[in-house]
Amino acid sequence: MRTSTPRFTGTGSGKTTSIHLPVISGRTIREHQPPATPDFQFLSADWSDIFTIQETSGTSGTPKSFFLTWEDWKRYAEKYARSFVSQGFGQNDRVVVCASYGMNVGANTMTLAAQRIGMTIIPFGKCDFAPRVITAYRPTGIVGSVFKLLRLARRLKSSGIDPRQSSVDRLVAGGESFADESRSYVAEVWDRPVYNTYGSTEGTMCGECSALAGLHVPEDLVHLDIYDPEMMDFVHDGSSGRAVLTTLLPSGTRAGTLLLNYDTEDTTMVLSREKCSCGRTHMRIANPRREAETFRIFDVPVNRVDIEAGVFQRENMEYLTGEYEAFIQQETSGRIVLEVRVECEDPDMVNKSVIADRFSERFLKHRSDLDRLISENALNLTFTFTKPGNLELHAAKGRPKRLVDRRQQS
Ligand SMILES: [Zn+2]
Repeated sequence: MRTSTPRFTGTGSGKTTSIHLPVISGRTIREHQPPATPDFQFLSADWSDIFTIQETSGTSGTPKSFFLTWEDWKRYAEKYARSFVSQGFGQNDRVVVCASYGMNVGANTMTLAAQRIGMTIIPFGKCDFAPRVITAYRPTGIVGSVFKLLRLARRLKSSGIDPRQSSVDRLVAGGESFADESRSYVAEVWDRPVYNTYGSTEGTMCGECSALAGLHVPEDLVHLDIYDPEMMDFVHDGSSGRAVLTTLLPSGTRAGTLLLNYDTEDTTMVLSREKCSCGRTHMRIANPRREAETFRIFDVPVNRVDIEAGVFQRENMEYLTGEYEAFIQQETSGRIVLEVRVECEDPDMVNKSVIADRFSERFLKHRSDLDRLISENALNLTFTFTKPGNLELHAAKGRPKRLVDRRQQS
């Protein structure tokens, strides 16, 4: 259990001094790169040593720039290689990567990691590849988001291929946070284990091992602290807080972008620092949630994953595709409306109130704060049932936004 405060204490010249290390946020980086400043002030190696320039998606403003040396890429690949090996992948595996290649590092890092392990990558970058890929190459693994893996299963089924009878041995879900319920459903549809990976351009790359008991943090390559939401102190293990990372480097080496105390804007908790049943000793954390996907309804936080858990109630999945989106709106009376839209194969054939009740039961479970808002009529939950393909997110480009705050426009 960690009880120290985030400060360094020294006793130079006989006097005790205490220095707080500042927390660096994405905003700090944006404020120290063009157009805010003439130079990239977080660039921490010579230009001649920079192998690639990466950008984050820029959903909250100017994309953040990250500079990677070839040594950085090799360290990133080491993290993913460990993750793959801990999930049982080896040199005889053939893995389709549905994660997108491009300015995000994930797919490229996995490809480099495969080279280290000696396994084969089929780099589609999307999940809309032809079903013949499955029958011809007989891949043993697929990497994609929960929704990509579900969509792929539906397409395979419609072309006469049963995912449960396919060559695939295991699936790796990454790229976004997910609910336990949606992961379980993917595992059921494919009848295969689904392992979580959590990675970012900034260099956090953690992976679940075959024990499925949290994500191992590669503690020799990255130092991860969990801060309280006010970013004033560490939280105890088992308590939720913001993941703050620091790049660790071998003595005498450089990173293209050296991050110290970098706020990932993701929320997680330390599950255990004890030795895992897989034999690994690196600490394990819970599936991180994105702060950018958390909205406050009268100070009560609601994360996209809270909605997802309600949608993926097992009995509901006999009728739903799993695709969903939700909108937060405010009526002129001040009351907040949370509209949940779900896709069903046939909206006319579903018992809508039963599905809505199952959603609400899960959504409000252990959430007396939300339950109170509803009983006080300050919050109203509404449900819309649509045919496949009719959700707004299908028309949007880029990463789908499944929980949208529309209070500004209303
Ligand atoms: Zn383990």
